[in-house]
Amino acid sequence: TTRSPLLAVDDLHVAYGKVEALHGVSLRIDAGRIVSVIGPNGAGKTTLLSALMGLLPARGEVHFRGEAQARIAVEQRVGQGLCLVPESRELWSEMSVEDNLRLGAFHRSRARAAELRADLDEVYALFPRLRERLRQAAGTLSGGERQMLALGRALMGRPQLLMLDEPSLGLAPKIVREIFHIIATLRSRGVSILLVEQNARAALQVSDYGYVLETGRVVLEGDSRVLANDPRIVESYLGLA
Ligand code: ATP
Repeated sequence: TTRSPLLAVDDLHVAYGKVEALHGVSLRIDAGRIVSVIGPNGAGKTTLLSALMGLLPARGEVHFRGEAQARIAVEQRVGQGLCLVPESRELWSEMSVEDNLRLGAFHRSRARAAELRADLDEVYALFPRLRERLRQAAGTLSGGERQMLALGRALMGRPQLLMLDEPSLGLAPKIVREIFHIIATLRSRGVSILLVEQNARAALQVSDYGYVLETGRVVLEGDSRVLANDPRIVESYLGLA
């Protein structure tokens, strides 16, 4: 028997006014997997994540943990374990690192203080740099530290599915490697991840399965290792670098 996937997206259409940005996207994510969506600028990657989060109206079917999402509001999706880390990171820049992390757990109203403390310690173990800066205002962090904080804050919500929009954007290669190392660590802890990236090489290295999105359509999909060797991917996305 096949278990139902954690997330199933079927024929998703999203439009901005009269202009359709997604023309019938279908994908699935099984629990415990990292699935990447790669594609060029303007392909519709951010639009896809926004629609899955419930931030944009969409036509088509989305099932999360077996439940149809059409009538489910953003806050409820968060409560059910869907978490989006947007490209803009959306941190509270005046607040400290630790307060930002604590706010990541805001919807876990029944969690005990000790449990939150343990989760904070776990985040600090993953990102020692955040512990060193726990009282520093988020707005004063470097780009890499901000991405770490955004990831850590997301983890404080104990998500079932973590959706990451371009986590490597604007970061130095060394920090990018660090971030992808963390993503791999999360997978080994059973966190499921939908990873949207322009850095196709890194995304395919860390993910189990990948989709290629071009101008609002999935043009190719497959096991990440197979995709990474597909001549079309090599030519268009991996180049000689
Ligand atoms: P990028 O990597 O540049 O963020 P992307 O793959 O995430 O690209 P989207 O941002 O989802 O692509 O954009 C998909 C298409 O929808 C683009 O043609 C874009 O111009 C359009 N679009 C995005 N946001 C809006 C908006 N708020 N209003 C109108 N059109 C939009």
